[in-house]
Amino acid sequence: MGKVTGFMEFPRNQAPYRDPAVRLLDFNEIYTDHDNERLANQGARCMDCGVPFCQSEEGCPIHNLIPEWNDLVYRDQWREALDRLHKTNNFPEFTGRVCPAPCEGACVLGITDPAVTIKNIEMAIIDRGFAEGWVVPNPPEKRTGEKVAVVGSGPAGLAAADQLNKAGHQVTVYERADRIGGLLMYGIPNMKLAKHEVVDRRVQLLRDEGVEFVTNANVADGSNGSLSIHALRDDNDAVLLTTGATVPRDLPIPGREFNGVHFAMDFLTANTKSLLDSEHADGAYISAKDKHVIVIGGGDTGTDCIGTSLRHGCKSLVNFELFPQPPADRAPNNPWPTWPRIFRVDYGHQEASHVQGEDPRVYSISSLNFTSDDNGNVNGVRTVEVEMKDGQFVNIEGTEKDWPADLVLLAMGFLGPEHDVSDPLNMEYDERSNYRAQYGKYATSVDNVFAAGDCRRGQSLVVRAINEGREAAREIDRHLMGSTQLP
Ligand SMILES: Cc1cc2nc3c(=O)[nH]c(=O)nc-3n(C[C@H](O)[C@H](O)[C@H](O)COP(=O)(O)OP(=O)(O)OC[C@H]3O[C@@H](n4cnc5c(N)ncnc54)[C@H](O)[C@@H]3O)c2cc1C
Ligand code: SF4
Repeated sequence: MGKVTGFMEFPRNQAPYRDPAVRLLDFNEIYTDHDNERLANQGARCMDCGVPFCQSEEGCPIHNLIPEWNDLVYRDQWREALDRLHKTNNFPEFTGRVCPAPCEGACVLGITDPAVTIKNIEMAIIDRGFAEGWVVPNPPEKRTGEKVAVVGSGPAGLAAADQLNKAGHQVTVYERADRIGGLLMYGIPNMKLAKHEVVDRRVQLLRDEGVEFVTNANVADGSNGSLSIHALRDDNDAVLLTTGATVPRDLPIPGREFNGVHFAMDFLTANTKSLLDSEHADGAYISAKDKHVIVIGGGDTGTDCIGTSLRHGCKSLVNFELFPQPPADRAPNNPWPTWPRIFRVDYGHQEASHVQGEDPRVYSISSLNFTSDDNGNVNGVRTVEVEMKDGQFVNIEGTEKDWPADLVLLAMGFLGPEHDVSDPLNMEYDERSNYRAQYGKYATSVDNVFAAGDCRRGQSLVVRAINEGREAAREIDRHLMGSTQLP
């Protein structure tokens, strides 16, 4: 159990990010090198609790064996720690970088002291595994002859492909984008998750193990150059849809049509594609350079828009949040081990504070309309402060304000999956327009068609997508073979 007195001897000591002044000059990852002594001390703080809430339902969605690898890192047994980590997590190099770490919110030490830095330890284990050459292709010894098509190559699709391939099935992943990875590739920016070095490295490993990938393959009804979902069904023994929650929530206020008002994903996707294609030399992205930028909406998407705009060299940056500022500590109705809904300073906020001298977030504010110049280019946003009354936001009279804006990025979440691939199958939807498929079973209303990840549950987290991909693979294996050995 780490060191018996470790939690009393060592305080929480989180790995720092690179200095904002330096990291803002590039799109490289924000992380610093792993410090083995710091990590061993953090491993030593783990108390190996009788009931490890960190790996329970409230904690890690894939039930990582956290106390076990904490102990192994403390004892300098990194290879064994890696084996334990891979038992539950196909892609720890993704979660170790981007997971918000609900495990730390559920860490028992968190009742009295700051939690163990679990996520740092996870990332260090897998990075060491790659650096030492311990992570190598491991193709299945036998093939079953069963064929599975996976539509969508985000973390849910990749996790499912990995598991199904391990079970010996022939898996082909179809992706409409030009690169594999879903939001790991074209959503989360490079500074949070490196594309060549981290995402492509894992995709290549899956390829070497026998998974096939087809890019620029838009699966739909077969018209307009799309790949027919009916043909995929006919050619495969099972089809898994992992198409994500890609329909963005809009802000239909006057002036929405002005030039310069964009969905966050259009901004982020083009930025990463141009960066990867040409280091931005092709100019094929929406630039924030010298612009007054307003990001409407928070969460990871809003933060990524902030970090990206600052790297472009924006003139100013403001981030509107409809909700009030969260408390510094847990509220009484948000007790341990639930996810702490507290005020957090993410990398983008830290960077904006560095550049502008203050946090960019403005809370309890709603946008009324956009304004423009004579050419229809957005030049401002009019807002009003809001308060909550009887469960509804109401405007506070007399608090209207005008903000300069040359670029507005809408980061207000997602409504669900597109239906191009599911309508031709007459698939059933749930009340939120997601593909209907019971959690734990993943079978849709269409024979031999399964669904997992954000397209089934709504926009969520990478770790939840990995969990659903793994579980859906287990159910597909059971469906194909009558029983399953997959976890
Ligand atoms: C900007 C942003 C930042 C985020 N940051 C974080 C973070 O830091 N940490 C975290 O845990 N979560 C984060 N998330 C959420 C996380 O990325 C998602 O929950 C996760 O990627 C969902 O995985 P998925 O596999 O279900 O779908 P996705 O990753 O959305 O992948 C779906 C894929 O399906 C493809 N596709 C869709 N339709 C078709 C079709 N008809 N034919 C072929 N291909 C198709 C899409 O092109 C896409 O590549 C973020 C989300 C966004 C938008
Ligand atoms: S995947 Fe996320 S929740 Fe699970 S151990 Fe890693 S950081 Fe924690």
